[in-house]
Amino acid sequence: MSTTFNFFENAALAAPAFSTGQAENLVRERYGLDGVATVLGSQQDANFRVVSPAGTFVLKVSNPAFGADDLEAQDQAAAHVARCSGIRVPSPVPGVDGRVIQPVTLASGSTVARLVTYIDGKPLGTGAYLAPPIVAALGDLTGRTSGALANFAGPLPPRELQWDLRNAHDVVSHLADFVTVPGGADAARTAARAAAETLGPFADGLPVQVVHGDLTVDNVIATGDGDGRPRPVGLIDFGDLTRSWAIAELAVTCASLLPRAGDPSVLLPAIHAFDEVRPITDDELNALWPLVVLRAASLMVSGRHQASIDRANRYAAGNLDLEWQIFEAATALPIRVMTALVRSALRPAAPRPVAAGRPIVAGGSRAVLDLSTTSPALHGGLFLDGGAETRLAGDADMAYVPYLQARLTRTRLNAVEPPATVGLGVELFAAAPLEIRAPWPGTVDRQDDAVALRADGRTLWLTGPLRDVASGDLEAGDVIGRLDAGSLRVQVSALDGRPPFLVPAAMAQAWASVCPDPTPLIDPDATRDEHDGAALLARRTASFATVQEHYFTEPPHVERGWRQHMFDMAGRSYLDMLNNVSIVGHGHPRLADAVERQWRLLNTNSRFHYGAVVEFSERLAGLVPAPLDTVFLVNSGTEADDLALRLAWANTGRRDVLAVREAYHGWSDATDAISTSVADNPNAVETRPAWVHTVAAPNTFRGEYRGAQAHRYAEDAEAYVREMVRDGRPPAAFLCEPCYGNAGGMPLPDGYLTTIYRAVREAGGLCIADEVQVGYGRLGEYFWGFEQQGVVPDIVTVAKAMGNGHPLGAVITTKEIAAGYRGQGYFFSSAGGSPVSCVTGLTVLDVLRDENLQENARVVGAHLRRRLLDLAARHPIIGAVHGMGLYLGVELVRDRETLEPATTETAAICERLRELGILMQPTSDRMCVLKIKPPLCITTEDADFFADSLDRVLTEGW
Ligand code: PMP
Repeated sequence: MSTTFNFFENAALAAPAFSTGQAENLVRERYGLDGVATVLGSQQDANFRVVSPAGTFVLKVSNPAFGADDLEAQDQAAAHVARCSGIRVPSPVPGVDGRVIQPVTLASGSTVARLVTYIDGKPLGTGAYLAPPIVAALGDLTGRTSGALANFAGPLPPRELQWDLRNAHDVVSHLADFVTVPGGADAARTAARAAAETLGPFADGLPVQVVHGDLTVDNVIATGDGDGRPRPVGLIDFGDLTRSWAIAELAVTCASLLPRAGDPSVLLPAIHAFDEVRPITDDELNALWPLVVLRAASLMVSGRHQASIDRANRYAAGNLDLEWQIFEAATALPIRVMTALVRSALRPAAPRPVAAGRPIVAGGSRAVLDLSTTSPALHGGLFLDGGAETRLAGDADMAYVPYLQARLTRTRLNAVEPPATVGLGVELFAAAPLEIRAPWPGTVDRQDDAVALRADGRTLWLTGPLRDVASGDLEAGDVIGRLDAGSLRVQVSALDGRPPFLVPAAMAQAWASVCPDPTPLIDPDATRDEHDGAALLARRTASFATVQEHYFTEPPHVERGWRQHMFDMAGRSYLDMLNNVSIVGHGHPRLADAVERQWRLLNTNSRFHYGAVVEFSERLAGLVPAPLDTVFLVNSGTEADDLALRLAWANTGRRDVLAVREAYHGWSDATDAISTSVADNPNAVETRPAWVHTVAAPNTFRGEYRGAQAHRYAEDAEAYVREMVRDGRPPAAFLCEPCYGNAGGMPLPDGYLTTIYRAVREAGGLCIADEVQVGYGRLGEYFWGFEQQGVVPDIVTVAKAMGNGHPLGAVITTKEIAAGYRGQGYFFSSAGGSPVSCVTGLTVLDVLRDENLQENARVVGAHLRRRLLDLAARHPIIGAVHGMGLYLGVELVRDRETLEPATTETAAICERLRELGILMQPTSDRMCVLKIKPPLCITTEDADFFADSLDRVLTEGW
């Protein structure tokens, strides 16, 4: 049975009517398999999954329009792709008679069927979200398939398929009337015509080869990988195999990704990866988006046509919405803009066009408005005030916001989509009346709230309260209209339609290719400075030791913080759930003012006599219970812990120290020695010097003792102290965090510190509480972690939150222990306790008190904890929610029985949360705990935004 199918002669191809019962019978008779069949959707064939004791298979009953030689060619091509690329493909299973292709009789005539192996996994399109590396892996798979099929030499019966994008324009013309969405038929025709016209000049230069023709997220099979993301491994359904433009393969893949792409730049990793394995020519790059549009339009009209001729085909009917979404997304932006975007993935940026012409406003002074993330005019959260732009323009006769400046004033807090911050033109603010003149000859017309001056190939768009607007033809220099006051958006466009004025930063460069820079029309002397975050990161790598790692694979370039948010140079906000140090929030005006004032007065060292060091020491001493009353001031947690150890050694004349495993206390020699967190130092446990002794991490979730057994950690530790004494090595000190920070703020078991402190003190040692991370109000219920345990340490170390990010640390102890240091000489730290540091510390304490932040930590923390527990009830990956107040940890596990840590998943989830506008990082020795320790000023709404976003990520995938 040989076919030379021509879609245009035979458009109506309903899938053959074939029941699951018939499928089961066929499989039994022809293949000797006892299987259960379920329907798999197909536009034009009847496909079934067959589960049998011998394995799972797919039975494909072909549309009678296609014949055995088509199927043979498809099988050969699939085998060829597998051989050349390693991609898994279905392979045909011979029947009991040895034949792969089996004739089948239908009520409507005869056809053929075959059984193929089933590829384990799920279609890549099953999940609602695909991360950039997965989009890239899909592009790579498309590229490898294309590379393999380029030299497929098998026979290919000539077919005129509706899926060959060389036919797409005709298919759309043919079938557009089946689109019943109002305006949809015209939209499809217009889009296809425009795409075909754009393609025209390149079409003949496009390489043609065999293509799979339907390489979509639904035909790519993925298996779950370590990080919980789907990895593309297989390719099915070679039924649309045909000769076509090679680049059409990638266009089909891109179109299938579109419903997931709120922002089309998410496609770029696929294009980039395709190009890596199968270089894209310049003509192909120009053809890609027109082909995406043609694919989207032909898919959409074909789906509607199929649904109309084959009303029983639920698969075809079910896809209609999705196909419409693809069509809308493919045509949402002009082809030229999308082509510029696509080119930006692969080629160096073209020089940006600049609009030349006569100035549209007369001379005079022009102030440049800085609305960027770093603008000094926007301190103190002023950018959130709706009238900020106008207010900043103030009384200047003329002020303007530069072309392509990303405006912080257009940011949105707690928004999952990046905001439209970048202006594709210049916005002019006038305090005095201005005449706006034509930069070139053209014709004036109005469109909505804008005035357009159209000339050959370019249009000047003026949006704002212009009066006395001219009409008809103007010469260069003629008055277009008058601006009395307010703002006028000045934009030049090479497109026919009116472009948006503000776009998200990811789309700005693409839009700039069709919206030339109009600055010369307003301020011919202007200079520009450009921000390039990637170049800055490269400079960081070149000059800043890379062992000082950065968060995230592609870190946002942040230059401003305000309260509980941080802002990148694109004006995107990130909810900061991470910065425990910025306890009172970022950019606090009271802190900035106090520090500035002190800098102007005096900054020196604590050997001088000034008030701030006295006041701050008194305040700190007043925060701890008796008998703690004496303060040392240093610059960091490391220094504070190091000094605490020195005090213990000096006071006891001993060297041995007992610490808790899986903790971090600093990077100096001594503090590093007692830090055994492998997350900070993978060799920590092996490289410990002999004076360091450790007891088990009191992890009541996954450690040796859980639940009712938790008290045994303290008993073991107590026994260990006795052993140290017996061995003649009694401890100088026991040092630990009073709430187990590394595990995500896990409270210590009840009575833990009471028992160990007693044992250590009986042995003549000192008890040191490292409050660097957990103290200072973060726990909500308690100001200090040791309060939760009902103990009073001999030495307390503090840092981090004390200075809200300014380097500050303290050791608080008793007079007597402090005096013990004398034996070592005197103590001096050049900047510890400096006037500026003390004023910083005092102001942080004032703000904590005046803004009631500890109470906020208690209330918002309890709310957030409830929300997270609710998520834990619905998402099995959440093994536990640790912590209290605003020190919480969400521990992610692969299995709630084995508690296998979901380490790679946690990293991937943090990357996805960053895309959604949240800063979050993993912690714990297993890096499987989301470390939740935001500034204490977060609100219930912020907590909800975090919980909702985490819910979304755990639901949609990451
Ligand atoms: N102790 C603890 C519990 C800490 O978390 C840290 C910092 N992560 C330190 C000490 C060291 O503090 P710093 O980085 O200020 O030296």
